[in-house]
Amino acid sequence: MSGSEIEALIKIMSRLPGLGPRSARRAVLQLMRKREHLLGPLAEALIAARDAIVTCGTCGNIDTSDPCVICADPRRDHQVICVVEDVGDLWALERAVATRGVYHVLGGTLSALDGVGPDSLNLSGLAGRCGPDTELVLAMNATVEGQSTAHFIMDMLSNRGVKISRLAHGVPVGGELDYLDDGTLAAAMRARLPMSE
Ligand code: ZN
Repeated sequence: MSGSEIEALIKIMSRLPGLGPRSARRAVLQLMRKREHLLGPLAEALIAARDAIVTCGTCGNIDTSDPCVICADPRRDHQVICVVEDVGDLWALERAVATRGVYHVLGGTLSALDGVGPDSLNLSGLAGRCGPDTELVLAMNATVEGQSTAHFIMDMLSNRGVKISRLAHGVPVGGELDYLDDGTLAAAMRARLPMSE
């Protein structure tokens, strides 16, 4: 339908999350129409990002410096380490200003089905970061893989004296009980709190 450069661009764009082939075509059309104000700056920003992006050797975050901005921040509580599955989860917690601690990005979850074992994840670095005053917050997804990964980490660090907690699973803010799925409702009942808190 179009020249090979344009088709190649559409093909790559359609691999992005949230963009199917149809949306990719629309996005590319817009980029071509606004060559000077959109396509040029985008191309430059992509190259700049490609050349600057590094993985933080401490926590596994993706940033433009190693250690990353979060690990290098002295105002953060470096004894509180929030363990997440991937960088998207770290971003979500940062957006919510959910913690003043630091993070550890595992890069996935254990999954026997997909052949992801402990060696495939950023787990050895985590053990090395844990001292006697460390508090780990396991912020894994509420999936079977996320929860089995959380249990694996608890077992791995059980003799280290590390304080370990996990995110509560429960009723979302503004949520109505009648609309919750059974698993969420049962988890909320198990994680119930005294009224004083
Ligand atoms: Zn970091």
